Amino acid sequence: MLDIANERDFGEYFFFEKPFKAFYGLVKEPEVAELYEIDEINDLLRFELIKMIEHSVFIKKCKNCGWYFIPNRRQDAEYCDCSFGETGKKCSEIGAMLRYERKVAENPVWEVYKRNYRWQNSRTRTKKMTQAEFLQWSEEASPKRDECLAGKLPFDEYVAWLERGRIRKAREKRDTQ
Ligand SMILES: [Zn+2]
Repeated sequence: MLDIANERDFGEYFFFEKPFKAFYGLVKEPEVAELYEIDEINDLLRFELIKMIEHSVFIKKCKNCGWYFIPNRRQDAEYCDCSFGETGKKCSEIGAMLRYERKVAENPVWEVYKRNYRWQNSRTRTKKMTQAEFLQWSEEASPKRDECLAGKLPFDEYVAWLERGRIRKAREKRDTQ
């Protein structure tokens, strides 16, 4: 058991220098492997931790469900591969979308941006707007959104700018008819 009175049971010594009982044995003849005898749960956790450091195993917290996971494809993975709730989909498949939706729901700037984005994008599908026009709109709308999020552009002004885009497009449409 961990001896609280013994300072050698804590700190760097405890984690890195306290020896494990190691021996060599035949695992699958004729292979010889280094084996460890571990009697305590503390030593097991310590062993796991040290081996993870030794093999550069990273643990990350899933940005969707909050569980810890070991990224096996990319070290910069943000979502785990567990299936999420009732969705039947993995966090890695839907995490980014759910996070975006939460962000939109929590922030009126994102909400108004997304609504206008959808509206403008739908116009490209109905050929009322070319793809190039849409890209141009998007290139103006996203930096303005970021300015607004950063508090450099008042929310009302951003909404007014987006509205002007809608009125202008509607008028252009009427003029060409
Ligand atoms: Zn997850």
